[in-house]
Amino acid sequence: MGNFFRDNEDLRFYLERGVDWERLVSLTERALGLDEGFEDVSAAIDFYQEVLELVGTVAADEIAPKAAAIDRAHPRLEAGEVVHPEPLASVLAQLDALELHGLTVPRELGGLNAPLLVFHMQSELLARADVSVCAHHGFHAGIAMAALAYSIDEGTTTFDEEGRIVDTRFREVVDTIVAGQAWGSMDITEPDAGSDMAALRCRGTLDADGNWTVTGQKIFITSGHGRWHFVVARTEDEPGLRGLSLFLVEAFDVDADGTVRRTHTTLDGVEDKLGHHASATVSISFENAPAQLVGQRGRGFQQMLVLMNGARVGVGFEALGLCEAAHRAAADYASERVSMGKTLDQHEMIACMLDEMRTDIQAIRCLAMSAGYRDEVAKKIDIRLRAMPPADPDERAALERESAHHQRRARHLTPLLKYLAAEKAVQMAQRCLQIHGGSGYIVESGVEKLLRDAMVMPIYEGTSQIQALMAMKDNLMAAVNHPRTFVRTAAAARWRATMASDPLARRVAKLQTLQHQAIRFLLSRLAGSKLRELRGQPMADWSRAIRQFDPKRDFAPALLHAERLCIVLTDVAVAEELLQQCAEHEDRRELLVRWLERAEPRSRGALDQILTQGQRLLDALAQTAAPDVMAAK
Ligand SMILES: Cc1cc2nc3c(=O)[nH]c(=O)nc-3n(C[C@H](O)[C@H](O)[C@H](O)COP(=O)(O)OP(=O)(O)OC[C@H]3O[C@@H](n4cnc5c(N)ncnc54)[C@H](O)[C@@H]3O)c2cc1C
Repeated sequence: MGNFFRDNEDLRFYLERGVDWERLVSLTERALGLDEGFEDVSAAIDFYQEVLELVGTVAADEIAPKAAAIDRAHPRLEAGEVVHPEPLASVLAQLDALELHGLTVPRELGGLNAPLLVFHMQSELLARADVSVCAHHGFHAGIAMAALAYSIDEGTTTFDEEGRIVDTRFREVVDTIVAGQAWGSMDITEPDAGSDMAALRCRGTLDADGNWTVTGQKIFITSGHGRWHFVVARTEDEPGLRGLSLFLVEAFDVDADGTVRRTHTTLDGVEDKLGHHASATVSISFENAPAQLVGQRGRGFQQMLVLMNGARVGVGFEALGLCEAAHRAAADYASERVSMGKTLDQHEMIACMLDEMRTDIQAIRCLAMSAGYRDEVAKKIDIRLRAMPPADPDERAALERESAHHQRRARHLTPLLKYLAAEKAVQMAQRCLQIHGGSGYIVESGVEKLLRDAMVMPIYEGTSQIQALMAMKDNLMAAVNHPRTFVRTAAAARWRATMASDPLARRVAKLQTLQHQAIRFLLSRLAGSKLRELRGQPMADWSRAIRQFDPKRDFAPALLHAERLCIVLTDVAVAEELLQQCAEHEDRRELLVRWLERAEPRSRGALDQILTQGQRLLDALAQTAAPDVMAAK
């Protein structure tokens, strides 16, 4: 019997040592030792391990062997409904039977109350077997948790004095998903609006009786044949993002006997895709579909980002699973295939590729675990502050600080994770195919499927370019808004780069100085004419002039180099996270060395491109309108 959890030492590191489970468990359980919960932290961890072992076995023994057949038999539209053909149908039924859709749902709502991080870890295991099975599976728990989070956010979830949930507005969504009877989707994209959400046209209308309806068409909706739809629609006459609101639409009613009665929504089609075949991607029309407004009018973009940021961490774990599959297939093949007298893995170039794949996988996992952990801790602290605000103001302030710290770091890491994981998934799948030579190009090998499946990762949940724009915007604006902090941080990194006693800390600091150099250079190129007179002056004095700049107009050089900056930011972020691990786990130093070996020249190269390239192109583009970076999702 295989087990995708047990055979993965790096993943087990995080369950056994690499995560502060004590903090996460303390925020996830109301209190330990209660009747319905765990006796102590180690009992909770034992339970998480049981779940991962179970999913690891199902992924290895039940899903992976059927992945090729699932790939061939796509979901199809029959009589207006999507049908899951065999063997996909039985694999999904097997997953339903595990009763894990409520894994992260609080116990009082019928769930198993596990941390979201455990859900993410099981996603990696499923994705290693088949990434599209994992994707569809994720639209169960993911939507239940989104419904709960939105209700808590708008104040329609009530808690008792011990912090237990008494009721929640979207109870039916949670209940039907936990029971394995439903799933949901996130409906944003339209024919003329993908990355550019400001162009969304789907309309939310309020009638005289105070009831909302939604009308319009959405395309490319993953698992959009489900019952619950979070739909972003335009409700205000204001153009752009401010006019958007979020709705919950029930796509169909289900009678007591289980008969589906589709009303107000039409499935227009199921896309015939390059890969990712277990996950139905549908186009759907809403015709005056009854809808519930979620949260405040006009805040649809911000609410969507909350859901999407979680989903981006999810894609990081999905991509990780695919990378594991690609690396293992490549390593296995290379260890057996003989060329010119020795196995492929003994040939220097192939050994180098395999080494890079192994290192990148560990780097992605490190970012994914950190982003997932921090996002969850921040959110759970916020919920605790709402449900059970501490009477002691110092305790409250400490919790707020802890939440803000994790939130900032999660916001920094999330686009970098999505970018790195998605780009590496494609690269690793391609390298896996390359290492298989001609056999890799033959469908029977199963290797080309990995590449087809990987190709969507840099596209959905915000493309790689959009992640790069987000990261660039956040980092530049942070330096603009807090120039003194930026200058201090940069000086401290320069000092550590020469003075830190640990040679690895020196190398990480040196890498950080490349990041600061890139940001400083891009800032100096912003609003060139405005800043020209400031050149040569200390950066801490720039803030007055920079405050007057218009990001939409003045960002051109930074927009051009966003992806290069993203590469540097990612190299640095991974190095920082690994250095932190090294402080507690000496054995992680070897991984940091491997990472730095590749990250240092890569970041130097990206910085060199930022410093020396692009003027010719910028001059040519100068007459055209700059894109609205603020509207990118
Ligand atoms: C399999 C699949 C599943 C999906 N699932 C969902 C789902 O569940 N829900 C949902 O709402 N959508 C979903 N999508 C849609 C997906 O989110 C969009 O395809 C994606 O956001 C890109 O939008 P677009 O296709 O309109 O491309 P465009 O936005 O037109 O982009 C085309 C290219 O231009 C680049 N680009 C765009 N703007 C800029 C810019 N300002 N600067 C630099 N480059 C830019 C993009 O990076 C991309 O490379 C899915 C798509 C696929 C293929």
